[in-house]
Amino acid sequence: MTKYLSESEAAQEIVAATNILFETGAISRSGHANLSARISESEILMTSGGNVKNLDPKTLAVVDLDERVIRGKVAPENAEIISMHARSYRARPDISSIVHTHSPAPTAFAYAHEPLPIRAEPMLRFGQAVPVPVVPWAPRGSDESVGGIIRVLEADQETLAVLLANHGLLAFGTSPTGTARLIVALQEAAEAELAARALGGAKDFPADALAQVRASMARVAR
Ligand SMILES: [Zn+2]
Repeated sequence: MTKYLSESEAAQEIVAATNILFETGAISRSGHANLSARISESEILMTSGGNVKNLDPKTLAVVDLDERVIRGKVAPENAEIISMHARSYRARPDISSIVHTHSPAPTAFAYAHEPLPIRAEPMLRFGQAVPVPVVPWAPRGSDESVGGIIRVLEADQETLAVLLANHGLLAFGTSPTGTARLIVALQEAAEAELAARALGGAKDFPADALAQVRASMARVAR
């Protein structure tokens, strides 16, 4: 049985995740993001406003996977985000945390409608071995936008992140801080990918790179 964070653990984790994003520059200057963590089979704790700078844990809201607010208040501009989080959890039971940002370098790929290639060692350590796919644009939180995210997630069960065309990034994990660290790795991977273009372009890993990294991680874990 999956063990979920308690509501207070999830609140601490969400605040710690925002600190990781700001400390590393993996979040846009607007401070815009939304974060959630699963606290039971049917409920999540999520941010209730659009800006997560100096996030007050008392502003977090409990929402259920049927998209109803159970406790707390969700700002009107964030009500449409509930569906994006709740439906993603319903589509992927392996996920227990979701973080949405406009991280600058991955967002450049989202603007270009270009999947982010995986050519950075840390991505393999996070288990992201497939290019980060692009979800077609539709107004944020709309049925069409969320439907696009769900289609990509169902078609690509391996991916731990998607790029939202002309918008930003959505990343998935088992804890808010782990998901924030994945976003930091995605930010660095996208920056390096863009920098390498001046040198003729980044090169792919050998075909068995993920298997080699997993074998090496298993040796260290023993
Ligand atoms: Zn956004």
